[in-house]
Amino acid sequence: MMFRTTNTRPARPALRRVRTAAAPRPLRHRLDPASVEEIPLRAGDGVRLGLTRVGARGTDRPAVLLLHGHTASADMFLLPETRNLVDALLDGGYEPWLLDWRGSCRLPYNETGGRYTYDDVALYDIPAAVSYIRERIGGRPLFVVAHCIGSLTLSLSMTAGLVPGLAGVVSQGVFLTPKLAGRTSLRMSVAGELLRGRIDHIPVDFRRVGLWSKYTPLFALASRGAHCPDPTCQILHNSAWGSGASLFRHENLAAATHDRLAELLGPAPLWIVPHLRRIELARSVVRWHDTDHRYRVLPPNALDAADRIDTPVLLIAGSDNGLWLDSQKLCHEVLAHRQPQLDVTYTEIPGYGHLDTFIGRGAALDVFGHILDFLDERR
Ligand SMILES: [Zn+2]
Repeated sequence: MMFRTTNTRPARPALRRVRTAAAPRPLRHRLDPASVEEIPLRAGDGVRLGLTRVGARGTDRPAVLLLHGHTASADMFLLPETRNLVDALLDGGYEPWLLDWRGSCRLPYNETGGRYTYDDVALYDIPAAVSYIRERIGGRPLFVVAHCIGSLTLSLSMTAGLVPGLAGVVSQGVFLTPKLAGRTSLRMSVAGELLRGRIDHIPVDFRRVGLWSKYTPLFALASRGAHCPDPTCQILHNSAWGSGASLFRHENLAAATHDRLAELLGPAPLWIVPHLRRIELARSVVRWHDTDHRYRVLPPNALDAADRIDTPVLLIAGSDNGLWLDSQKLCHEVLAHRQPQLDVTYTEIPGYGHLDTFIGRGAALDVFGHILDFLDERR
């Protein structure tokens, strides 16, 4: 029969074992469990998020909220195998708070649950965390250190006036002027193939996907020219979920971190691509929802609303950021020109890529000092 009008294929097998429980996957850390308080935070629209407070002696510590990147999680700041940012903040006299926003791989929403855009993160997740922390810390200063999409969405919250009065913000990788790396034609063709195949996630864990699956061509593509034989590493380091970009400098990772990349970064949902694409084309953080009145508090274009920023900002980026290129340098130049009244500085980290600025084995020596210096000057 040439034309098949009914779908006679067997039911699609589950793409992966999905977690449907709302409770976040347990964190991995080497802190005293008694000092770690996990708070079941609800976002402004009712979505269950994860918020973790790391307590320490002293009641006058300024608080620092840490925002992970998309598909990462609070785990990226707690690596037991290296001196991590939480260690550095505790030693520096700060109280770390870690938000797992809805794009966290500790939560189920990237794989199940309703679709969302970065508007939801900026409108519902980050303001809910800031407001909860403020209730708890009273008049103590509150800083934010944000990575990648955590920082991009923070810029939207800030320019909407939803998180006023922060003591300072450290932004890593990208802030108001996103420039995405990657071979666009390749990215679009791969995305097109996947969408045609009704795949809605790009997985990273080869062991869960198996040797022969609909994802095999994606992993094969990512393996081209790769020096490392690990397929999970290849799809992140060599291809950044099929985009052709690179997430880290390979030699900057400890072996133990390299071996748990599939735990640190989850599957990327393809349904976020249209918003990301619009942002990329605008070279600015732009709101997705144009007509839905619930989102009207967000500015249509965050860069155009940058005069609402009311706090010092430190922009940092690795000299070899293979995902966002020199977005931070560009952001510094644009803000210096358009909003000269703002307190914005830029620090480039030589020899670093993107995610390794936080999870690299030498990040405590090469990166965290810049962050602590900035916080110390403003605490
Ligand atoms: Zn590798």
